[in-house]
Order: sequence, then C-alpha cells, then structure tokens
Amino acid sequence: MSSVLHVALDLPIAPYFDYFPGHWALTPGQWVWVPWGQRVRIGLVIAVGKPAQWSPDRIREVLAPVEGLEAIDAWSLSFWQQVADYYHCAIGELLVASLPKALRTVQATSKPLAGPWAAVNKAWQRWQASLPDKPPAVWHRSQLRAQQAEVLDCLIAQPEGFAPSLLHGITGSGKTLVYLSYIMSLIEKNPKAQVLLLVPEIGLTPQLAQTLESALAPSTIAILHSGLADNLRAAVWLAASRGELRLIVGTRSAIFVPLPHLAAIIVDEEHDPSYKQWESVRYQARDLAVWRAQSMQIPVILGSATPSMESWHAADRGRYRRLSLTERANLLPPPMIELVDMRQIRQPLAGLAPRSRELIASLLSEQAQVLIFLNRRGFAPLLQCAACTWVSPCAACSAYQVLHRQAGRFQLICHHCGQRAKVPRFCPQCGNSDLSAQGRGTQKLEEELQAIFPQAKLARLDRDAGQGKHLAQTLAAIHRGDIDLVVGTQMLAKGHDWARLQAVVVLEADNGLFAADFRATERLFANLMQVAGRPGRSHTAFTQAPIVLIQTAHPDHPLFADVRAHDFQAHALKVLDERKALGLPPYRHHVLLRVQAKQQQVIFEFLEQAKQWFERWIRSQGAQVAAVLRCYDPVPMNLARVDHWHRSQLLLEAGDRPLMHRCLSDFHADQAQQQNLAASLHWCFDVDPQDI
Ligand SMILES: [Zn+2]
Ligand SMILES: [Zn+2]
Repeated sequence: MSSVLHVALDLPIAPYFDYFPGHWALTPGQWVWVPWGQRVRIGLVIAVGKPAQWSPDRIREVLAPVEGLEAIDAWSLSFWQQVADYYHCAIGELLVASLPKALRTVQATSKPLAGPWAAVNKAWQRWQASLPDKPPAVWHRSQLRAQQAEVLDCLIAQPEGFAPSLLHGITGSGKTLVYLSYIMSLIEKNPKAQVLLLVPEIGLTPQLAQTLESALAPSTIAILHSGLADNLRAAVWLAASRGELRLIVGTRSAIFVPLPHLAAIIVDEEHDPSYKQWESVRYQARDLAVWRAQSMQIPVILGSATPSMESWHAADRGRYRRLSLTERANLLPPPMIELVDMRQIRQPLAGLAPRSRELIASLLSEQAQVLIFLNRRGFAPLLQCAACTWVSPCAACSAYQVLHRQAGRFQLICHHCGQRAKVPRFCPQCGNSDLSAQGRGTQKLEEELQAIFPQAKLARLDRDAGQGKHLAQTLAAIHRGDIDLVVGTQMLAKGHDWARLQAVVVLEADNGLFAADFRATERLFANLMQVAGRPGRSHTAFTQAPIVLIQTAHPDHPLFADVRAHDFQAHALKVLDERKALGLPPYRHHVLLRVQAKQQQVIFEFLEQAKQWFERWIRSQGAQVAAVLRCYDPVPMNLARVDHWHRSQLLLEAGDRPLMHRCLSDFHADQAQQQNLAASLHWCFDVDPQDI
C-alpha cells in the first residue's frame, strides 16, 4: 500500500488526517492546502511516509504546498507536539488555529486555488508607507532611576541560556521602562534579535504602546492589537516569522508566532487571568512563555505588581530569580487606603457611603479626577416581581438576565449566551405590574452619580461602553483630564496612568471575599492593588493626598489588612500556607474533565463511567499511586447550563504531573475506542484550570 502524509488540521476530532502527497515532495513542518469536503483547508504536515489508516479510496491528495509561509523546523514541531500532549489536544488545534485569520480562510474546492497573498502584501506595503519617518526619541538607560537600573543590570548580566525572572514591581514603579531598556540592550548586542512581549489587553494600555513606539524605530515594532485588519495582521505575522521585526507585542495567542531570532520573552501583568484561554484548547500563555524560553534556552521575564501564586511559589523555591521594584517612579508614597465600614449605613445614595460622597465632592471642587470601581456591568443585575418569586431568568442558561439600558431604552440581556429580551410590562408569572430593578450595575451608577454631581463630566468604562476607536477616544479624554468622574469595571484596573487622578472609590468589594473558587481572593487582592496603584501619579498639588476608599461590610477581613499595608508579600505568604495545608495548586496539580451536552442524563452517565474508569485505573496502579492521584465526584459547573447546554465537570488532583498525564492519555486512548459516545456530548480536559 502506498504511503501517506499525516496532516494536522484545526479540528478537534483527530490528531491528524491521512493525505496522499500527489506529486509534491513534502517534509514535516510544511504548510499545505488540502481538500476537506467541498472546501479547501490549510494544514500542517506532521509526518511523511506513513502507512495509511483508511482504505485508499477514502484518502485524498494534497492540493499544493502553501507558498510564502515558512515551514516549521523539526525542532519547533517537536516542541509544539509536547505542548499539545500536555494539553491533550491535537497539534493542529494549537498551530493551525493560531495562524492569522486571513491565512486560514477556506475556499471552495471548485475554484482555482488562490491564497490571500495579493491582499496581504498590499496591506503590508500600505502599512510600511504609512510609517512616520521621524527617528525615535533618544532613549538612554541613564533616564532610569537607580532601582530600575539595578534590575536592568541584573537582567543584562545573566549568563546565556534559560533564565526565568519574576519582576515584582509595585504599580507605578516603571516596569515598562525596564522592559524597554532590556529590549534595546538585546538589539544592541544582536541587531537581528527578536523579542516577544505579551500583554493582557492592548486596547486598554495605550501608554505602554506609546512608550515602546517612542523609543524604537517604527518599522521594527509590531503591535498586534484587536483593531488590526485581518490582512495587515497576517502581513505582520508573516514579517515576524521571516525574522523582520524586532519587537512583537501581542495578547496570549502571540505566543504561537514563529520567531526565528527570538532572544527573550516578556510577560507583562503575568497574573492576569486573560493569559488562560477559556475555550477550545485551554492553554495558559504565561506557562507556554516559560516553556518556550526554556526549550530555546533564552531569558523570560514575568512582570507583575501582584504575581500569580504559581510564579511567586516558583520564585520561593528558587526556580525563578526574583527581582523587585519597590519604589514608585515618581518617588511619591503610595496612596493611603481607607476602609469604609458599610455595616451601619442603610440605603446609601448611589451605593456611596457619606464619607465617599463627601470625598468625591471635595476633590471635584479642586478639579481632581476620581475613579469609581464597581465590578458589575449593566444597569441592574436582575429584575424582580414585588408580588411573587419571579426573577428575570434566562431561558437558555442557569442564570438571570441582566437589566441593561442602552440609548435610553431598557432591555434584558443574558451575559452568558447573549440572548436579549424586551422588559416585560407585567410579571410573566403573576401578572403584577410592579417589577423593580434589584442591585446596581455601572450604567445605573453612572446615572445616579450624574444626578448627585450634575456639574461633573462622567465617563463609563466597561465592555458595553464601546471598543476599538470609541474606547481609545474615551481613554484619551480621561488621560487629557477632560473627565472628572470615571465609572468602570475591572477594565479600569489595567495599567492606566492618569495625571489628575487623585482618588479611587471601590464599591461592593466584598463580592470576591466569599466566593466558592479558591482563587477568588487572589484575584480580588490583585484587582484592589492594581486599582490602588492608580491615584497620585503626578506631582500636582491637591489638598487631599491620594487616597483609596474601599467600601466593605467586612472591614476585619485579613485580606484588607494586607491591602491597606500594600503588602503583597504578606498576602502571598498567607495564601500559599493555606494552599499547602489544603493540598491546592501550586502544591498539587489539577485537571478538570469538562463535559457538556444538551441532555443532562447523557452527561451524568458519561461522568459516572469516567469516574469508575479513573478509579479502576488508579487501583490498577497500586497503593502508591492511589496516595498521589485522586478523582472527585462529578459536579455541575458553577453555571450549570449555558445556551441550552448542560455542563458538568470532574476534578482530578495529583501530586505528580507525569503520572497524571499518563492517566489522561490512557483515558483518551480508551475513549477513542468507544463507538457509542453520544454525538451530542462534548468533553475536554482542562489542564491547570483557572476556575474550579
Ligand atoms: Zn410576580
Ligand atoms: Zn443565557
């Protein structure tokens, strides 16, 4: 029988598919166009000269190699295969899925094969022609403060090879300038060097981009923000993969960009949950950054004011080198943090304690800016009937619909499936006309604040308030100081630097204190510290010193003591002690078997069988394995139903990663044999889940 190629596609159904090479001489790592049904797909050759697994009449021929797309070298291919094995997914789900959209475009097989090259090249030429030809501002390391220079020297003095550093720098300590100086030192040493800088969200950090763009030649830096048109994104991606750009800035998926001269990887705000992909393959880009740096024997820097417990623990154990920036760049002390006890306050106006209201009023009279943080978007979290038990449910999810107000009109929106509905005039259950909005979201808060402070100019920052250009304009207006009061969700917590900002008021901070997820307090602490680092960035004199008010009904909670002291270290020590005692990550490892199906019964049966399978497997390995690998009972997810899909999960916990992966691989192999799996059931492993 003639031999076939194994081609990886962006499809979760199999790790690879058989194709005949036709008259093409192909090698592993090459990109090819292949027919799939009536369409053409892009695929990656991962093996050649293999015996066919199907009968020859079912195997089709490769259409052509993809011109203009660099092949992946054997060494990188084997690295990404290891990553795919770790996440128990197909390599195509990582590498093919991470190609820019313009390169993944499928076309009908009936049409002559045409890649996107003409449009992509045009976008590239237009981009290059649009670049300003002004030379970058002269940036020299002498502009660094002593502490920044010290950290930079440590980074530069590292011996060649893999060198992971955790840069713990308090908010406002000027991490960006350290990154920039380090990047420039690498390029100085090797003009071909490429650096990958990962950031959580580019649209929210215009100042980071500005800083980098001001010091590096515009033709050498590419910022892969979400506003880039598809063709230009593809062009930038291709240029980077040819080794043409020096600095590539991107969000988590940029970790997959092939960079032939990669000299270092930097992960900014490394604790940010957005580095974890929440759907399809659930990879963690920060972990991949460390892994990729290790395999390439290059340095990696993880930077944060509130590092993840995983990274902090790795630094404690000496796996990462810890570097610290303890002073703010402006050398001013961090803002005072005051807890406002809400226990005695009944029905506060706009949810604000009198103390908060007075502070805002006095700051507004001095033309200072105030930021009000409420981590709940929409107008009100639910609509309720005063006469019966009816609360606006979503028909498709186990969640309530949230009341929204857009352009003056109310509607109900489910935040999980996106379904919209008119606001009923009468209670659908009892016919009562007395329906009322319960609780407060950012839209309502904005209205209430405008009523209390009619002279103030307000802006709202949340996911409903606009994206892209609109968001950039709002941020610019706030930055210029045209806005007095900013209302927003955790979008506000990112690295903004606003000169007139003098105070932050945090409403309903308690939501994260008692959540079921063991990572909730870690996230709350990070959010509060990020927000608390914002005010008082400039030397403008206001009578009120920079201040953060946190409204809480639990002022004695130990978390707040550490927040008030700006003491991340003390907080981390407590959290890690607790995790160690309870056997939680980073001391033990978690994997979730996540399952969804339209019928609950299907899930129930699948998970019951899975649990029995795992227990059998563990027993078969002997008593030693049973002591380090545990399988818990299946439970419905926090949101048990989303968009008509029921969702449940089963937790596996291990003290030993290789053992865990052996178990998962065996389960995978066993499932592949099962023919009777309900077609309507989807399952996947979430390795190192971020939410339990
Ligand atoms: Zn009712
Ligand atoms: Zn819904």
